[in-house]
Amino acid sequence: VTSLAARRCVLPSGPARAATVRVEGGRIVAVVDGRADPRADRVLEEGVLAPGLVDLQVNGAFGQDLAVAGPEGWDEVARGLASHGVTSFLATFTSAPLGELEERLRRARALVASHAGGPGAREPERGCLSRAPRARLLGAHLEGPFLSPARAGAHDPDVLRPPDPQDLARLLDAGGGALRLLTLAPELPGGIDAVAALARRGVVVSVGHSDATAGCVAEAVAAGASFITHLFNAQRGLSAREPGVTGYALVDERLRLGVVADGVHVVAPVLRLAWRLAAARIAIVSDAVGPAGARVGVAGNEGVLAGRRLRVSPGDAVARLDDGTLAGGLALLDDGVRTLVALGVPPADAWRAASVVPAAVLGHQELGRIAPGAAADLVWTDDELRVREVWVAGRPYQSPQPGAT
Ligand SMILES: [Zn+2]
Repeated sequence: VTSLAARRCVLPSGPARAATVRVEGGRIVAVVDGRADPRADRVLEEGVLAPGLVDLQVNGAFGQDLAVAGPEGWDEVARGLASHGVTSFLATFTSAPLGELEERLRRARALVASHAGGPGAREPERGCLSRAPRARLLGAHLEGPFLSPARAGAHDPDVLRPPDPQDLARLLDAGGGALRLLTLAPELPGGIDAVAALARRGVVVSVGHSDATAGCVAEAVAAGASFITHLFNAQRGLSAREPGVTGYALVDERLRLGVVADGVHVVAPVLRLAWRLAAARIAIVSDAVGPAGARVGVAGNEGVLAGRRLRVSPGDAVARLDDGTLAGGLALLDDGVRTLVALGVPPADAWRAASVVPAAVLGHQELGRIAPGAAADLVWTDDELRVREVWVAGRPYQSPQPGAT
């Protein structure tokens, strides 16, 4: 048994406060709420102890594009994410020809079995103990190809199509239990049937890259959709007589809302608006692409997303296509938390938008929270929420920093 005591700890609800956390066998076995036990193995006098972050939308990072990277590349991404406090993630694939998507899903499926997370990721500590700590690969998020050409964003419009049942079956077969989340446009022919079919198979269905009216989104929710992909971006917006995807999402409390919180995809006043209306339902995502986290000037100034060239300009926090279209984030999820805090969001609430809420989107009660029974995925930050130390399944990712007690 190891124990950690912190003056400020992010628990599943309420403000950051003192707590003592006991860890055994990769899991949290007890939490003393309200008291930092001075006899704990580690006493964290400063900073914040928080649950590991959960990123539902990672296309790549650290110079690697997950759509094409080999196992070493995936490993590099998983380790790099852990260094940013991200202890679980979904590999995200954007629209591509069906055969390529099948191949990517099969690769993800094989890697889920070998990564921390284990098959199906229902037992998150499995497969982790014999390996260096790194972020758990929870599975794949397929963003497309059943998306609206009118809201393609950076997706190649030539490969978008309506959700044909046979195509859907091929993707479900290729992904198996590793296909966890699928973003589609429910207004396409066959869209609502596809939502129902996916939901029946246990895949979380998200509305995104969609020109749907609010009425259509309501139908999708009735059929089983439960998430919105990057709220505000690449979807029909709110107007006076048509709420669109955005307006509907902000008021239907059954939906959780993915938001790219880099301050560029959604500017501060709009982020603040969403927070006021739906704070407890917002799951921030990075939508990170290959150049994210990479050193600028080395592998950081250009990249590729599903075969499309990305441009990264100095001082720009996002990757763009040649025509300027937003094509993904460069900030990782820990940055997103700090962006929310900079808007005035209380630190514990901001942290939960990147841990408890995204874990709940996938139905993972045992991830993203400091509570008995949960995986011991923990992050210790400084007072500005910059990551200092990370534990995955109770094992330290980084060696203790000088000055830490
Ligand atoms: Zn997108």
